[in-house]
Amino acid sequence: MKPDIKLFDSDGKRLDGRKPDELREIKIEVGVLHRAEGSCYLEWGGNKAIAAVYGPREAIPRHTQNPLRAIINARYNMAAFSVEDRKRPGPDRRSREISKVISEALAKIVLTERFPRASIDVNIEILEAEAGTRCAGLTAAGVALADAGIPIRDIPVACAAGKIENQVVLDLGKDEDNHGDADLPIAISPRTNEILLMQMDGHLTLDEFDTALELAMKGCHIVSDLQKKAILKKYQNIEEV
Ligand code: ADP
Repeated sequence: MKPDIKLFDSDGKRLDGRKPDELREIKIEVGVLHRAEGSCYLEWGGNKAIAAVYGPREAIPRHTQNPLRAIINARYNMAAFSVEDRKRPGPDRRSREISKVISEALAKIVLTERFPRASIDVNIEILEAEAGTRCAGLTAAGVALADAGIPIRDIPVACAAGKIENQVVLDLGKDEDNHGDADLPIAISPRTNEILLMQMDGHLTLDEFDTALELAMKGCHIVSDLQKKAILKKYQNIEEV
């Protein structure tokens, strides 16, 4: 499909000056909320997200309890003021879908069997959105879970690759998402490369899919290093006090 705007300049750079395999700038801050067990503020390009973890605590209502393990309730919400045209507040189909896939991804990584009948609530608030918010939200949630001291197999991390003007690129920006051909967000456990979440918008050939998956994996590992650095920064500072 031919996009209606040009997404590469004559030097092969993208609209925001990035190379095809370059991520947007990412900043991660750990432990920003005092009432949460664990929290994280994350900026990823123009996205701004907060993740806050509460629990494990007794799951209410009681009929939602699982006698064998904790349930993970991730709730993704985009603030009304997070996009250019104000978004209607409250849950919608899209936010329910994203909450579900993030809950399922996190449930694969948390040692839920240690907390029967409990719920672990992960609130993800998107304050500003510029494409890639499910990856930003899940990545922030991974850090917040670690900050909460909840036993996890690994710190989950997410990143997307996609296709614009017939080229596979890393981490689509807003115009690329709007005018591009495909978007492939994934979340992984970086220690084992197990895939925790995979979704796809648009069309890719099998070869393009393989290239995009490999690129998204590489992106995940770069973001994973940033997560670990941010966590170390918080806890090393505390030790120094
Ligand atoms: P993701 O944010 O994970 O890429 P989508 O592909 O569904 O998820 O959305 C892409 C982008 O489109 C969002 O990051 C946001 O900038 C914008 N967007 C999504 N929903 C709305 C909405 N209801 N109103 C305005 N913009 C939206």
